[in-house]
Amino acid sequence: MTEDALPAGEMKYSFKAHVQAHGFAGDLIISSTTINDLVKSIKLLERGGIQPTTATSHPTGSAPVCPIHQRPMKPSRKPGSFYCSAKVGDDYCKEKARA
Ligand SMILES: [Zn+2]
Repeated sequence: MTEDALPAGEMKYSFKAHVQAHGFAGDLIISSTTINDLVKSIKLLERGGIQPTTATSHPTGSAPVCPIHQRPMKPSRKPGSFYCSAKVGDDYCKEKARA
């Protein structure tokens, strides 16, 4: 990236995370004007004992990961089996796995 590609105006970055700290859980929003400061702030959280909560969107248990797309597979309608929701051309990925 060249210097010309950088935006001239002041940028603002916000980072929202669901965290837990000392028995409390809640949303945390970090705002920063530079990516560098944002990353530094996130790193400081760990030192303050603030940890991200595990994402709730994931299904219980560990879903297998597609070896082609390196993404977690989704549970299929058949219990105990998973499919990859990535698209390959007009079709879905053919990878399937059993739990
Ligand atoms: Zn796949």
